[in-house]
Amino acid sequence: MSKQETNGAGPQQNQPVDPNQPTQPNQNPNGKRRVGFMWVYAFLAIALIGLQFFGRDATPREEITKGKLIELLKGQAVEKIELVNHEDAEIYLNQKGLSLYFPDVQPVAGSKTTATPSYTYKIGSLDRFEETVEESQQGLPNPVYITNVRRNNWVSDILAWIVPFGLLIVFYIILMRGMGRSMGSGPGSIFNIGKSRAQLYDKNTNVNVTFKDVAGLEEAKVEIMEVVDFLKNPEKYTKLGGKIPKGVLLVGPPGTGKTLLAKSVAGEANVPFFSLSGSDFVEMFVGVGASRVRDLFNNAKAKAPCIIFIDEIDAIGRARGKSAITGGNDERESTLNQLLTEMDGFGTNSGVIVLAATNRADILDKALLRAGRFDRQIYVELPDIVGRKEIFEVHMRNLKLDTDVDKDFLAKQTPGFSGADIANVCNEAALMAARKGKDLISKQDFLDAVDRIIGGLEKKNKIITAEEKKVIAFHEAGHATTSWLLQYAHPLVKVTIVPRGKSLGAAWYLPEERQITTKEQMYHEMIATLGGRAAEQVVFGQISTGALSDLEKVTKQAFAMVTYYGLDDEIGNLSYYDSTGQQDYSFTKPYSEKTAETIDKEVSKMVEQAYQEAIKILTEHRDGLTQLANKLIDEEVIFGEDLEVIFGKRPWGSKEELPKAEPVAQVAEAEQETGTKA
Ligand code: ADP
Repeated sequence: MSKQETNGAGPQQNQPVDPNQPTQPNQNPNGKRRVGFMWVYAFLAIALIGLQFFGRDATPREEITKGKLIELLKGQAVEKIELVNHEDAEIYLNQKGLSLYFPDVQPVAGSKTTATPSYTYKIGSLDRFEETVEESQQGLPNPVYITNVRRNNWVSDILAWIVPFGLLIVFYIILMRGMGRSMGSGPGSIFNIGKSRAQLYDKNTNVNVTFKDVAGLEEAKVEIMEVVDFLKNPEKYTKLGGKIPKGVLLVGPPGTGKTLLAKSVAGEANVPFFSLSGSDFVEMFVGVGASRVRDLFNNAKAKAPCIIFIDEIDAIGRARGKSAITGGNDERESTLNQLLTEMDGFGTNSGVIVLAATNRADILDKALLRAGRFDRQIYVELPDIVGRKEIFEVHMRNLKLDTDVDKDFLAKQTPGFSGADIANVCNEAALMAARKGKDLISKQDFLDAVDRIIGGLEKKNKIITAEEKKVIAFHEAGHATTSWLLQYAHPLVKVTIVPRGKSLGAAWYLPEERQITTKEQMYHEMIATLGGRAAEQVVFGQISTGALSDLEKVTKQAFAMVTYYGLDDEIGNLSYYDSTGQQDYSFTKPYSEKTAETIDKEVSKMVEQAYQEAIKILTEHRDGLTQLANKLIDEEVIFGEDLEVIFGKRPWGSKEELPKAEPVAQVAEAEQETGTKA
């Protein structure tokens, strides 16, 4: 979901800047936090310096070696030795020693020595030291003995306690700040974790998206506009006793412009607009989600009338239920409960309307969808041909186009594309033209962009042996042939064996518009999907790993036909589909072991039947298949018209004859690269 525009228009961007104030080169926009950290650094520095100073005696004295100590003792120059804390020996010289070594220093009056020691000596082990002192004075009269002194350095003792504690606290604060920030809650504090993270757009914020930027979606716009009107003129509706709806749910596939529509409401409505995503409620801490919901609604009520927009509401709105695996859903459920309470809790006329968007309305909790909560649902569908043209128009506004660009043609070439895809096509086309150094974007750039978006980047340099190329060509020709010759398979638009992305070749179809699909139609599609593998079997007598994605698709389709749509005679009119999504969590199957066996049997029977049918068609039309494959090897890309030359017109209507029937989805048959997944 594109959020670029949202970020740019965030409220925090709008801080006034005084142009008269010179900006300081080292100024940090986040000045406050800087100052906070300066404290920490200052504290650390002082602590270290303190340790340096207080840990030792303030006046440094000369430290002597063992040799010098022995010399002093032997020379009877020592008055006394004080052993401080069993670590340092402080040596006081007597009159003789002083006159020898410090002729300028006199003993303190009334004493035989100085007030401070003349030398210090670091002792290694106490025993050795005592030994040294005794041995050096052996035989001498009036030997000096060691006096033990215990001296407490309170400052360093206290610091030794405080510093580690201080460091721990500093570390804790930094950790918490980092955590708070990484969760994006508030201005970097753990205490803001329960606050709502909605972005607010109001009068002061420039939201530059309006209804003009949303192409198509006319019905949705009308409904949404009505909601805006409720907020602006509530009396008009309440006068007659009506109640203003509380919630509007936008439902539709991804990229169809739900977020864009909501954003444009913010631009149009002129009421405060809170925007956030369902996942913003979710946090690793229990209870945070519910607290955020409460906070959001409190903020909104303070600003009423206003709109709250929750994108991807399925992140919290998924149906509640027993989770078979863990209790991990509890947090999400309590968040949802809080949301339900809030939506029912505020009075209908309080002027807060909740807009929400999702592409999975089927898995939402029923309680959320009941009248009184999201009582309006607006379906935002994939755009039809007219819608696509309009979306192209919106996104081409700022592009420099060549004269040959035809929006109608492009709209036709992009069945099944969402608004986001089309925006992407326009952007890709501009990039491609720029890469080629052109001044204007041409039609070919757009077509290349479409191909690229469907299939990925062309890989012209991929090394494919002649033998492999032949297999790929027959495989794709097999799809093309079967789909051309079957009444209900989608007619082909284009086949290519230019490798793109992970696929080695691809076939493009033009699906016809259908709201319901019959068993026969599904069966024909399965045959066409298996046509690639069948062609390999018919022509080379062996099959390859290249049909992985075909097989996956066919298996899933057959499984759905048997277990979901009730299209299998043996299983009958039963469906094991679970629209609540609860079954995903459960380990048990809703059918018996015996039924499971039948399902397996029926699925494989169906696929096998389709495969045999494909083999039959391709054997009958082997000449056409070979011609087509050879043409593919030569030209790499062939179109529906080439098939018409080989097989003749489709009796059931070809691409051109398909009346105004609106193509709904484009299917790109991508063959997996051998060995990537197999
Ligand atoms: P959704 O929320 O439905 O998944 P978004 O609203 O985020 O989709 O759409 C993504 C992008 O696709 C938009 O930013 C816009 O550029 C483009 N887009 C989608 N639908 C439309 C539309 N109807 N008109 C114009 N642009 C569209």
